[in-house]
This record gives sequence, C-alpha cells and structure tokens, in this order.
Amino acid sequence: MCFYHKICHNIYDKQEIKLSKEFVLGVDLDGVVADYEAGFRDFIAKKKNVSIDSIPTASHWSFTESGWPIKDEAEFLNLHREAVTKEHLFANLQPIPGASEALWALSDAGIRIRIVTHRLVVNFSHASAITDTVSFLDRHNIPYRDLCFVKDKAEVGTDLIVDDAPHNIKNLRKARGDESAMIFHQLYNKGLDGLRAYSWNDVVAEVVKRTGIDIDIQYRS
Ligand SMILES: [Mg+2]
Repeated sequence: MCFYHKICHNIYDKQEIKLSKEFVLGVDLDGVVADYEAGFRDFIAKKKNVSIDSIPTASHWSFTESGWPIKDEAEFLNLHREAVTKEHLFANLQPIPGASEALWALSDAGIRIRIVTHRLVVNFSHASAITDTVSFLDRHNIPYRDLCFVKDKAEVGTDLIVDDAPHNIKNLRKARGDESAMIFHQLYNKGLDGLRAYSWNDVVAEVVKRTGIDIDIQYRS
C-alpha cells in the first residue's frame, strides 16, 4: 500500500521507504510502453497489400520520410484513424519489453506513475482510443495512478517524463530544463542529444539516481 508524500511500503523487500515528496514519473505510451510501430506496420502491410518485410524500421518521425507506403501526413492520419477505430490498434499492440516489470517496481517503491499520451490526436476516434488504451494497460499489467490524454505534455506535472518523440522532448526541455525529459531510444530519435534510456532498466536507474530509493526489478520468467 502507498501513502502519498509519506511512507511507501515496498512489497519486494518489505522495507519501508521514506519519500519527502512523491516523485511523479510521466510515461508516454506509444514507442515507450506500447510497440505502436510494429502494430501499425502490420496494419499497413495488410491495407496496402505489401509484405511486412518491405516496410522498413522507421528512421524518421514521419513514416513517409522513413519510406513507408504512405504519401503524406494527411494519409497517415486517415490510416491511423482507421487502424484505431476499425482494427482496435491500441488494444492489440504488443508491450515494449521490460515496461511492466519496471513500472511495477517503480510503483511499488512509491513512485507515482502518470501516463501522458497524445492518443486523441485525431477526431472521431476518442471512444476507441480511450477504452482500448485502458484495455491494453490492463491486459499487459501496466500500473498507473493517472492517465492523461493531452497534446502539450509540458502542461502536465511530472518530475521526469519518458517519451520517444523528438518534438515532445524538445518542448519539455525548453519548458522545464534539459533534465526534465528522458528520451526512450528508437531509431527515429537517435539524433537527439541528452538524457536517454536504451531500455526500461535505464529509466529505473535514473529514478534511483534522483530519489535515492533502492529499486529491485522482479522479472517474470
Ligand atoms: Mg510516443
């Protein structure tokens, strides 16, 4: 159990951990917790009747620039909307390896998990986007205290936020300083300097460094 701002009970080692102030970890979903790129690649391959292998790993934030068979941003948004509403993309994505275990370890250590996502990016798909997001989080055992659907992530209070989108990281660092945002490594963001996580272990290590809490990740076999 967890008493905010006071004492948190670590269920792993049964040690009481004292936090002078609750640490809020902001967590993006797509590209950080959920493998959007793999799920969307499957959808595009079927929709365009091309092989999955012909669609490259995204090397730019834009799928069009990455060489996917999508002619521009407008077509991307239409395809995204169709994937979300008709194919329930958000419910069917696979999780990023290690996300559940790391987030549980953080949560059990008293870190407040605040999911911050821009999944309401297109109109007329909000019901699917929200219900399928919650379904995904339940199905893949992702813990969270808050679930924020928001475009400007700097509007949401977090001590550290993990995101994969270069524009989000730049905006957050501009608003709050370089140490406020940790980029979650993907090929399309490799050109961005600064604080970076190559895996969920790196996210946990950064929180340990900032809070002084000893966090032990329990991996499922
Ligand atoms: Mg993302």
